[in-house]
Amino acid sequence: MKAVVYHGSGKVSLEEKAYPHLEDPGDAIVQVTLTTICSSDIHIKHGAVPRAVPGVTLGHEFVGIVVETGSGVKNVKPGDRVAVNVETFCGTCFFCRRGFVNNCTDEHGGWALGCRIDGGQAEYVRIPFADNGLTLIPDHVTDEQALFTGDIFSTGYWAADIGEIRPADTVAVIGAGPTGLCTMACARLYSPAKIIAIDTDEYRLRLAKERGLADVTLVPGKDRIQERVLSETRGRGADVVLEAAGGKDTFQTAWQIARANAIVVVVAMYEENQILPLPAMYGKNLTFKTGGVDGCRCGEIMELIGAGKLDVSFLISHRCDLSRIMDAYDMFENKKDHVMKFGITP
Ligand SMILES: [Zn+2]
Ligand SMILES: [Zn+2]
Repeated sequence: MKAVVYHGSGKVSLEEKAYPHLEDPGDAIVQVTLTTICSSDIHIKHGAVPRAVPGVTLGHEFVGIVVETGSGVKNVKPGDRVAVNVETFCGTCFFCRRGFVNNCTDEHGGWALGCRIDGGQAEYVRIPFADNGLTLIPDHVTDEQALFTGDIFSTGYWAADIGEIRPADTVAVIGAGPTGLCTMACARLYSPAKIIAIDTDEYRLRLAKERGLADVTLVPGKDRIQERVLSETRGRGADVVLEAAGGKDTFQTAWQIARANAIVVVVAMYEENQILPLPAMYGKNLTFKTGGVDGCRCGEIMELIGAGKLDVSFLISHRCDLSRIMDAYDMFENKKDHVMKFGITP
């Protein structure tokens, strides 16, 4: 079968690989029906994800059909349409029992798919802990609507949740890329008074506004960000800041636009160290929450998609077959043709 393989030091290629098979009673084999490229794949390509293993098949954001299950799998059966969670997790270790599945201590726990074990930029994929990592897709939900459930939607849902957004808050979201837009969509679920979207890409900001995800859009370098956020919030600053950009100075912007005692959630993945200027932020009494998604709420996300309350299928701006995925990588990495997300069919 065809699969996208990471070879270390910037090299990724589409090649022939053996079909996966069941290795554990908890495994399922999924035939991928729609997959995509995530900015994390580009981080892996750049060598910015040290735990990524050369030789691994990339891809951690995809949907498919279950074709085979191990004897221990109870929740899915062959023929089921499923969304796949970015994280595989045991469900029984110390961290899993507390909902911190990103830190699952099993050897295949946490973000392993498409990083340490073969992922879904391929025709077929083996999913460990299938009962925990697969979410049934209702008949009336399309693959395109379900595609982002396990990764960028989970990230946005988690960010909005740990941001502790309250109705009438002003939420600032830095980054209007795919993850940022998902984060805005999830922040909307909490009825904030206002969502301020910040990005250097005006095309993306326009999309955020057109789709009803952002109320105010600000462009660094053009708008005075701090001043504008203050004027939008009666001089206090954003009540919650969700940083989903991971740019050169976006972390600095995140804490600067936060009001005193705000929660600043950093879900962005940086390629460089960031500076925490404690003297400058003394007295602001900020709470920082950082890291990678605990992606264990896919059932809730799918309910909301099914009910029409979450829909970001508009993010799929380009479509192609798996045979053309290397062109898609080039376009996605270099942000050509205003690409947001590819829908790639194996
Ligand atoms: Zn991702
Ligand atoms: Zn675990």
